[in-house]
Amino acid sequence: MERTLAIIKPDAVASRLAGAILQRMEAGGFELRGMRLVHLTRAEAEGFYAVHRERPFFDSLTAFMSSGPAIVLTLEADDAIRRWRELMGATDPGKAAPGTLRREFGTSIERNATHGSDAPETAAAEIGYFFRGVELG
Ligand code: UDP
Ligand code: MG
Repeated sequence: MERTLAIIKPDAVASRLAGAILQRMEAGGFELRGMRLVHLTRAEAEGFYAVHRERPFFDSLTAFMSSGPAIVLTLEADDAIRRWRELMGATDPGKAAPGTLRREFGTSIERNATHGSDAPETAAAEIGYFFRGVELG
């Protein structure tokens, strides 16, 4: 079994899509091992996306991610990292495959409804950013 960090981003929570996305996680075979509503500060969003600090979209992205509540989750499944990214679809909702979450629920390359870790090392670091070990089921 593998774990990944997922986020239901502020755009999706504000649009009342959290329930629909949680349903898709469960239907997709992911076990929920951690789940919390968080309203990130700007500094917390900047810390989470530190790897993108030099990118032109960093300021806008971190403003968006700290603009309202988001839901952070630890998902568990066989091959969870790859399978969650597959269910999310491409970063740009306009390029994401039909049936993927970002295609269905995202509205721009920035406001793309969900986050998923991209590798085992980043998954471990991102889970640790939001959850203490004793909080995980
Ligand atoms: N993003 C953006 N503009 C871009 C690329 C990415 O606003 O040109 C945002 C988008 O919300 C994305 C996040 O930055 O989900 C992190 O980018 P990354 O390249 O890591 O994409 P992801 O791993 O989320 O698919
Ligand atoms: Mg990424």
